[in-house]
This record gives sequence, C-alpha cells and structure tokens, in this order.
Amino acid sequence: ESRLKKTPWIVYNTSLEIDQSETLTLISDLKEAIQQNQLLLYIQPKVDVSTRRALGGEALIRWVHPQKGMIFPDQFIPFAEQTGIISDLTQWMLRRACEALADFKKQGLHISLAVNLSTRDLNNMELPQQIADLLAAHGLTTKSLKLEITEGSLMQDPERAEIVVRKLAAMGLHLAIDDFGTGYSSLAYLRQLPVQELKIDRSFVMFMDKNAGDASIVKSTIDLAHNLGLIVVAEGIENELVLNQLAKLGCNEGQGYFIGKPMPEKDFSIWLERWQG
Ligand code: C2E
Ligand code: CA
Ligand code: CA
Ligand code: CA
Repeated sequence: ESRLKKTPWIVYNTSLEIDQSETLTLISDLKEAIQQNQLLLYIQPKVDVSTRRALGGEALIRWVHPQKGMIFPDQFIPFAEQTGIISDLTQWMLRRACEALADFKKQGLHISLAVNLSTRDLNNMELPQQIADLLAAHGLTTKSLKLEITEGSLMQDPERAEIVVRKLAAMGLHLAIDDFGTGYSSLAYLRQLPVQELKIDRSFVMFMDKNAGDASIVKSTIDLAHNLGLIVVAEGIENELVLNQLAKLGCNEGQGYFIGKPMPEKDFSIWLERWQG
C-alpha cells in the first residue's frame, strides 16, 4: 500500500478512508502532477477472444508521486471526481491517448484505444467538441477512439449525460458500458442508449473457471447482450481456462492479466509484436 499512514490524533471524518488533511495534500499534489508531468499513460491490451488477435487497448492512468512513488487510480480518481480535477485528468488522458494513437498509426498499427470517462465528463456539454478537436489535431478518425462509461456515471444527471452520450455517438465514437453487473441499472435502460459494447465486470470473470455461479452470470449476460446487438468484452481474464471458457460462450473481446497487464506505451508496442495468441 502506497497510501499514507493515518495521523492518529486527527479524526475529522471517519467515513473517509484517508483523513481530510491527507486528502487535501493529495488534491493539491494532484493539481501539480498534471503540470509537472507526473502522470503516465498505461495501456492494457484487448484481444479478440476467438482468434486471440490483438485489437487495441484500454488507456489507464498512473501517477508517479515524487515522494510516494507509483499511485494507482483507485486511490485518486474518487478525489479527482469529487473536486472536479477529473476534468483536467480526462483532458490530459484524451490528449495522451490521441498522441499514442498517432504514433501507432505512424508505425502502421491500426488499433484502437479506450479512455475512461467519469460522471463530470458526462455532464460536460463541451466534451464532444473537445474530442472532435483533439482527433482532428492528431489526424485521427473517430474509429480509433473508444469511450468507457459506467452505469453510475450516467445516473448522476441522466438527462444531461444522455445529451452528451448522444452527441458522442452521433460523431461516430464507439461507446462501452464499463463494469457491467456492478450497478443498478438494467439492460432495458442501457438498451435505449447508443452504446455498442458491454464490458462485464472483472469480479464475475476472474473466478468463472472455479465458480459455476459466476460462469452462469457471464453466460446469461453474453446471451442477453448479443440479443440486444451489443459486443461483449470480458475483463479480468487471469488464466487460459477462463479465456477458453469465454470463447465457448461466444464472448467477443477479452482483457486481463493472462493476456497482458497494463504497461507503458513502448512496452505495448513490443507486446503487439510478440503476442501471437
Ligand atoms: P477499470 O476501468 O475497470 O479498469 C480495469 C482495471 O482492472 C485496471 O486497474 C486493471 O489494471 C485491472 N485489471 C485488468 N485486468 C485484470 C485482471 O486480470 N485481474 C485483476 N485483478 N485486475 C485486472 P487500474 O489501472 O488500477 O484502474 C482502476 C480503475 O481506475 C479503472 O477501472 C477505472 O475505473 C479508473 N481509471 C483508470 N484510469 C482512468 C482514467 O484515465 N480516467 C478515469 N476516469 N478513470 C480511470
Ligand atoms: Ca474501464
Ligand atoms: Ca472495468
Ligand atoms: Ca472499475
């Protein structure tokens, strides 16, 4: 755990895992992190489950803190979301993803990258135009960029989020529902949205080779999603057994440690050359 130790005599708010003084430090550090190039783009590969062909990857953020070292997103994305810094992080990530895509294109690699969006991003009416400008500036089409949204991020201000989502889809961007199965919304609701892809949360996938209950949840999610015309992606594939099981169930795409861990852009290029499936 790279998380700071709690200062025992300050108890401002017991509902927070990190006390408020640490949170405030982390937030001001995070503001600097963007300016001082402490953020890194990591990419986790995605493959076609039946052919094992490489399709692209998911862009994941890493923060190399000058004192605390590598900090994982689960430790700062929630704060970034609460304070609004997330908008700057998203802009940073979208720009880095476009730069990486332009590099790959130069190398003759026509792959796609998926970027995660948060609640605030989906309430930002300027986002579609900002993305259009970024793509144009890097000579990219909307085909190369995918956007991952969660059920939760849609729920904050559903009407506003839906307007943004519809604009993004109208531009031709590929949208995915992330962490499917962990939220409360139904496929019936999601079906009304212009999304193309459903990502089954890793908690259902990781142990499906050992847990029959998990396997049947994954199977019925795949069937239901296919009936609605959606592409299904399984995340959290940690061994070959699970990958084969998913292939039998007709799952389209896969992601997980067995295929490749999140890695820096350079390593991802090497992974692309070496991965034969
Ligand atoms: P996520 O979108 O569900 O991303 C997948 C997470 O699952 C990644 O964690 C990845 O390392 C992990 N993972 C992938 N394969 C496996 C596996 O086989 N086994 C296990 N146990 N885990 C696996 P990571 O990179 O720590 O990211 C955590 C979360 O932080 C992400 O979850 C996403 O919600 C958020 N996040 C990361 N980068 C960004 C970003 O740039 N913007 C936003 N808004 N959120 C981000
Ligand atoms: Ca994601
Ligand atoms: Ca996910
Ligand atoms: Ca997640």
